[in-house]
Amino acid sequence: MVSIEKDKLTWPTLAELMIPSEKVAHVQIGNPLEHALLVLVKSGYSAVPVLDPTYKFQGVISKTKILEETLGIEEFELNRLSEIQVNEIMDADVPCLQPGNHMIDALHKLIDYPFVCVTNEDGEFDGIITRRSILKQYSKHYHEILKYHE
Ligand code: AMP
Repeated sequence: MVSIEKDKLTWPTLAELMIPSEKVAHVQIGNPLEHALLVLVKSGYSAVPVLDPTYKFQGVISKTKILEETLGIEEFELNRLSEIQVNEIMDADVPCLQPGNHMIDALHKLIDYPFVCVTNEDGEFDGIITRRSILKQYSKHYHEILKYHE
């Protein structure tokens, strides 16, 4: 098993690794599904965070959820896109991280989710940690450990 002296191993904080809120595409709880779908299609993401007007994190909305909701018995009922609000169908039962958490906490949560939101102690949205950023960090550390043992 590969090991390394403790003082050589430094990990970035979640605050350093996260995509900050101002760079994250998001929607508001009261937005109609058509707005959310527009944000998702234009951004190219399959899911984005949902915030309330005070910038508190409320959940996640995905293309899949919107498509499921608009699919009728035989066809898509696109008129439903303007009738339903994001908060009615968003996934509110998703884990969050705090800026003080360790990268390993993020890794554990990202096993099941492509991204996890970071909130402050008041529940305000700070940003997101993505699978990509955590995998890049662990890959970097893996190579550092190998180099150290050469
Ligand atoms: P990645 O690991 O970079 O592929 O990102 C995983 C997921 O995180 C994406 O599919 C999006 O749902 C979300 N995501 C990544 N970057 C952003 C962003 N700037 N704004 C909103 N969502 C994002």
